[in-house]
Amino acid sequence: MFYCSIVLLCGCQGRQLYKDSRVMMGTFVEVTSPDARATGIVFLEVKRIENLLSKYQEDSEVSRLNKAGKLTVSPDTLYIIERAKEFWQATDGAFDITVAPLVELWGFTDKKYCLPRGEEIKNTLKLVGSDKIILHPENNMIEFKTLGMKIDLGAIAKGYAVDCAIKKLKKAGVKSCLINAGGQIHCLGDKLGQPWKVAIQDPCKQGFIGYLELKDKAVATSGDYEQYFIKDNKRYAHIFNPKTGYPAESNVISVTVIAPDGLTADTLATSIFVLGKEKGLELAKKFPNVEVKIIGK
Ligand code: AMP
Ligand code: MG
Repeated sequence: MFYCSIVLLCGCQGRQLYKDSRVMMGTFVEVTSPDARATGIVFLEVKRIENLLSKYQEDSEVSRLNKAGKLTVSPDTLYIIERAKEFWQATDGAFDITVAPLVELWGFTDKKYCLPRGEEIKNTLKLVGSDKIILHPENNMIEFKTLGMKIDLGAIAKGYAVDCAIKKLKKAGVKSCLINAGGQIHCLGDKLGQPWKVAIQDPCKQGFIGYLELKDKAVATSGDYEQYFIKDNKRYAHIFNPKTGYPAESNVISVTVIAPDGLTADTLATSIFVLGKEKGLELAKKFPNVEVKIIGK
């Protein structure tokens, strides 16, 4: 794994900001803070969560659970799977971490994209459905009902990891920090007395369409422009409709959610993308202090 570890000191109004980035959870995790301890605290905590939840690490709890179909897990893994099941219920199945076999079938796991046959999709759909995840919280155990089922926490893990890092920062007394984990953002406190400025990427071309000014907020964006392949002039993206087994045919290009915490922002952004604008906005209304920005097709 490539590591970029440059600490930049940015002078600003007589005070300095410490800036550093690492490749973690398959993306760049960038940390900016006037507190020199912040970068180390964030990287350590994000790494801890990545080691539990990554489907690309053979010894992670998620990989071991996917292999065995039953596992005693850490409180973090149990918690995130419980929350994912809650979102599955709240979205009427649009958010579903059991899409993992579909993600694999379509080649998004190893980037060897392919258009599966209808029959293959039909068979794979038998492994999809969060009702088939059995939780045993009394002994921290997770069990799959159907042989061959797998989970993929790609739509929720970064939000949770950033939340955990923010908790550690607060515990250490860090009052100001910006974390950007590949578009999963958290603004802790303010930036030397001013709100943090977060740019919103233009999904259609290079550049930005505007920016948000935020304090103590999490931001997540989901879109079909992040990972996709084109076959016969049709675009197939990485966010799936768990009911059809095909990439979600959404009427939106990108969804940005601003929420008090990263897990809610991350999960809602993916859910709204699958549900589309109307149903997605209805869902968002059920969550307090959440703001949604949608770029439609
Ligand atoms: P995000 O970028 O947060 O929207 O997450 C997208 C990732 O979540 C995909 O790359 C898949 O790994 C996974 N995923 C795809 N479709 C779904 C879905 N309907 N529910 C939950 N996770 C999904
Ligand atoms: Mg997400």
